[in-house]
Amino acid sequence: MKQKETLLNTLRLTDFDLDEIGDEHLSSSYSTPLREDAFEMSDELKIELIEKHFKEIMLILGLDLTDDSLKGTPHRVAKMYIKEIFSGLNPANKPKVKLFENKYKYNEMLVEKDITFFSNCEHHFVPIFGKAHCAYISSGKVIGLSKINRIVQHFAKRPQVQERLTVQIANELKNILQTEDVAVVIDAAHMCVSSRGINDISSRTVTSQYLGKFQEENTKNEFFQHIGSTTS
Ligand SMILES: [Zn+2]
Repeated sequence: MKQKETLLNTLRLTDFDLDEIGDEHLSSSYSTPLREDAFEMSDELKIELIEKHFKEIMLILGLDLTDDSLKGTPHRVAKMYIKEIFSGLNPANKPKVKLFENKYKYNEMLVEKDITFFSNCEHHFVPIFGKAHCAYISSGKVIGLSKINRIVQHFAKRPQVQERLTVQIANELKNILQTEDVAVVIDAAHMCVSSRGINDISSRTVTSQYLGKFQEENTKNEFFQHIGSTTS
């Protein structure tokens, strides 16, 4: 019960000028801004509280929650937030990655491209979706290919800005693989740009992070050839 009160006391909408930051899509930090007590509350309690508050939002909008089609929505949304689309906030859900010896002595770059992901813009809470292309050069260790995909999905399942998502994936690959040589490119569409606001349905956002050897022109160009990019 005490947990409930502490959280609710902080939910005051006083920072109106934050709106401007949101619409300009500026990001402030490369680690997700989390409260110190972010994971003290159980998932079950979080679902219960979000359900209650989402119900309030729907009521304020004027919706009739006794309608058959609407009455399950607050619980569905709450469960989806905690168990699915924002499950990557919780470090306990981080994919467990096992390292293998690079037995094949494969010393070229490994590219895992066209990894489809869904995330949500932290300024509007509407989807960001697209492809991530990741590459690394082994320093003696390798990981299962599907783990790269899982790492992308983990960081995507947070309220995000694309720049931060890109850097978080690159840093994680660098730390896990114990190599400096990592590249990540993300090409995505933002529903907050297409379905509202400026209503531009064709523009895409591309972000990249090149570390170690990927900062060198030759390595970077080889990576671009693999992912089929004409940018250099
Ligand atoms: Zn947005």
